[in-house]
Amino acid sequence: MCGCSLLYELSRYSIKTLLLEKENDVSDGTSKANSAIVHAGYDPAPGTMMARYNVEGNTLMERLCADLDIMYKKTGSLVVGFDDTDRKSIEKLYVKGNRNGVPGLRIVEGKELFKMEGALSRDIVCALYAPTAGIVSPWEFAIAQAECAVKGGARVEFNAEVTGIKTENGHFVVVTAKGEYKARFVVNAAGVNSDIISGMAGEKFFTIQPKRGEYYILDTTEAKLVNMVIFPCPSKLGKGVLVSPTVHGNIIVGPDSTDCPREATESTVSGLEYVAKNALRCVPSVNLRASIRNFSGVRADAGLEDFIVGESKRTPGFFNIAGIKSPGLTASPAIARDVAGMLLDKGLDSTPNPDFVTERKVTRFKYLSDDEKREAIARNPLYGTIVCRCETVTEGEIVDALNRPLPPRSLDAVKRRCTTGMGRCQGGFCGPRVMALIAKYGNTSETDIPLDREGMYIVTGRTKGKRVSL
Ligand SMILES: Cc1cc2nc3c(=O)[nH]c(=O)nc-3n(C[C@H](O)[C@H](O)[C@H](O)COP(=O)(O)OP(=O)(O)OC[C@H]3O[C@@H](n4cnc5c(N)ncnc54)[C@H](O)[C@@H]3O)c2cc1C
Repeated sequence: MCGCSLLYELSRYSIKTLLLEKENDVSDGTSKANSAIVHAGYDPAPGTMMARYNVEGNTLMERLCADLDIMYKKTGSLVVGFDDTDRKSIEKLYVKGNRNGVPGLRIVEGKELFKMEGALSRDIVCALYAPTAGIVSPWEFAIAQAECAVKGGARVEFNAEVTGIKTENGHFVVVTAKGEYKARFVVNAAGVNSDIISGMAGEKFFTIQPKRGEYYILDTTEAKLVNMVIFPCPSKLGKGVLVSPTVHGNIIVGPDSTDCPREATESTVSGLEYVAKNALRCVPSVNLRASIRNFSGVRADAGLEDFIVGESKRTPGFFNIAGIKSPGLTASPAIARDVAGMLLDKGLDSTPNPDFVTERKVTRFKYLSDDEKREAIARNPLYGTIVCRCETVTEGEIVDALNRPLPPRSLDAVKRRCTTGMGRCQGGFCGPRVMALIAKYGNTSETDIPLDREGMYIVTGRTKGKRVSL
């Protein structure tokens, strides 16, 4: 996410920028597996970069989502309390939030609270209401920024794992699985691997202890359960198990927080049991039997109260955007703006890029009115063929995504762009059809199309029967 936000921010200027990504798509790390909340900003300690970036990022994200046509909704959030101890925590959050500059915070209780959210446990005595909190499609936020940056002249190199960083004659040489790249400045935004990359540049002052968080995604049948993001009071383990709507019409429930190896994104019985127990405490009617998917994401926790953002003291020209745990998604546009400013201060050319892309428009057939649907099909008959029945995604939308910058190369990359396979059948119906489209428009073979990362192949050859055709 932070890499994509910075790439977009830097595409304002007439400079050469390159994003090196070890996977075959952007947003394939932590940014695709989180709660997707645009936090209001009452949690971080006042005076930290985290607090400033959170509140600024909240505002920037709303604007960017409107400009780049990214799914976003300002829902508001509630931090709920069950007793006097929780009330004190909520009062502290209220004071902290005001110091951080979060607008509109209020402590609500009684009838007003249950009118806001009827499904809350009647054991809840009060809540902190934050009207500026929201929900977003996190992977789309990264993809949209990267697409616009590339359209404006930036480069992205996939399957380019960084394995070393050298300095030669006053510039950096970044060694990757795909070759070496020279650069005047290097910015490390490698998520759970950010300590390893920082170490390559001689900066070894922090270590990432990855922390996994697990989730349930509930079917859209449960969409009316809550309108806002419902949090318990925060604890040492973080913001706690939330129950929230998603921009795609599901309910998300989670996460827990347990130490894990880097990128260990499995789901566990113990993790999901913990999530279930804590969710039911706040929202007793949450129906976990309507779960259509479990997943987990891994936080890049550097064990600090703040993010690590700025130029290395030991290696001038090398910058870290590291230890970006929650609220890193919300903070990312503000971090990017700040780091771009630091690079300009170091002499980066600030000549405006005449090709800077400020707008993006995506057709989402499902959300069009009947008249708009008719017009869309008249304009492009491919919008008349439904490929994903659960999510009503058309062939036209998939072909649009395949024709945009950074065309998807895997089934999940199409899913992140078009929502195919995100419904109840989880791609059982549309999977082969999406594969056929990637093969056709990407001029490749179905046997070369992975589920997500390279090597995650779905089919390895033909046995018998006919090819799926649309
Ligand atoms: C369970 C959980 C819930 C969260 N909920 C929220 C929330 O609701 N709201 C919020 O604001 N934040 C939330 N966060 C935090 C947020 O998701 C992260 O802060 C954010 O996604 C971090 O973005 P990033 O760009 O730093 O890391 P990533 O998205 O992980 O990006 C790092 C990229 O670097 C690449 N990479 C790694 N190593 C190399 C290498 N050697 N060479 C090349 N590329 C490499 C990876 O493939 C990846 O694409 C949550 C996090 C978790 C885990």
